[in-house]
Parts: sequence; structure tokens; C-alpha cells
Amino acid sequence: MPVSNKLIIITAPSGAGKTSITRYLMKTFPQLAFSVSAATRNPRGNEKNGVDYHFMSTEEFKTKIHNNEFVEWEMVYQGKYYGTLKSELEKIWQENRIPVLDIDVKGAIHVQQQYPGSAISLFIQAPSIDELKKRLESRGTETPESLSARINKASYELSFKEHFNKTITNDHLERACTEAAGIIAEFIAK
Ligand code: 5GP
Repeated sequence: MPVSNKLIIITAPSGAGKTSITRYLMKTFPQLAFSVSAATRNPRGNEKNGVDYHFMSTEEFKTKIHNNEFVEWEMVYQGKYYGTLKSELEKIWQENRIPVLDIDVKGAIHVQQQYPGSAISLFIQAPSIDELKKRLESRGTETPESLSARINKASYELSFKEHFNKTITNDHLERACTEAAGIIAEFIAK
């Protein structure tokens, strides 16, 4: 399969450990490139524009929707837009690399539909909702309101897991990373 339309989608309810697994895959396979999404939320901690997200105003985001610049976009949280730019995927394919999209469940379903046969999707799940709650609390980045919004969303998102090619249960991070790497190695070699 040519690299020119291969892509890897990693999705999960928030707090399932998707970011850690994505980072591990990026480190392990130099052929992969992280697809930097556009987002309208504020940067957290030491997040950098153009590295973690293309941070932008809601107005700028809406102009891009209007100009059909997104492969997919979602209002992931109340009033906060996130989207995958077509230009981002094109840039990565031109470098002869495979984009890795770390996106929410609905966005993942939409992207998958647009690249039938050339995308692989990994659904990462925490062992339980209780465990998910503990992880989000210990991350310390959530207010009580945003924590409960993320938990509600996670319970809902779990019901979509059969839409994806592979499900990985993140019971132990190292084991889950190894499992994901095995799947990706096979996909790259295809
Ligand atoms: P966070 O605000 O924690 O960085 O991300 C919140 C959620 O938005 C995560 O589940 C993340 O995967 C998702 N997300 C990030 N970029 C995109 C995107 O381009 N499209 C969609 N649909 N979701 C995204």
C-alpha cells in the first residue's frame, strides 16, 4: 500500500492513556508523524503552538470550516472546536511519512469513513470508568465540572468501540504500548 494515503487513528475516552501510547509509537517508529490538530481551547502548561495544536480563535476556526479546510472537525467540549486539517495530512504524506491522528471518537469514525482500506484505527480503553476517574483526578488538570463532563463523555464513547479496527485495554501502560507497537509494525509493513 502506498504511504500517500495511509493513516493511523488513535482514539479513546479521555484519560485512557491514549497520549502516552501515541508518544510511545512516535518514538518507536520514525516513519510516523503526529498530525497536529487545530483547536480553539487555550494552551495548557507548556503546550506549544504548532507542536501540540495549531491554537486559533473560534472565528479563525469557523473560517476554515467555511473554506472546507478540514478532513473532520468536532465541538469536542462545550464551545471548544478541534479539527484535522487537510493541509496537515498532505504535508506529512509529502514527507513520505504516515500521519498519526489522536482524535475523539466521533472524529475518528468520520476520518475512518473517508479513508476506507488505508486507515487503521486503535481504540484505547481504561480498565474501568472508576480507574478512568482516578487517572483524570491525579492528572490535576480538571475542575470538578470538566472532570464530570469528561467522565460522562467517556461512558458514552465506550459504546462506540466496535467501530474501530483494534481495541487495546490499557491495564498496564508498558504492555499496552507493546501491543500497539505490534499492530502498527504490521500496518507499516503492509
Ligand atoms: P485535549 O483538550 O485534552 O487536548 O483534547 C481533548 C480531546 O480532543 C481528546 O480526546 C483529543 O483526542 C481530541 N482531539 C484532538 N484533536 C482533535 C481533532 O482534530 N479532531 C477531533 N475530532 N478531536 C480531536
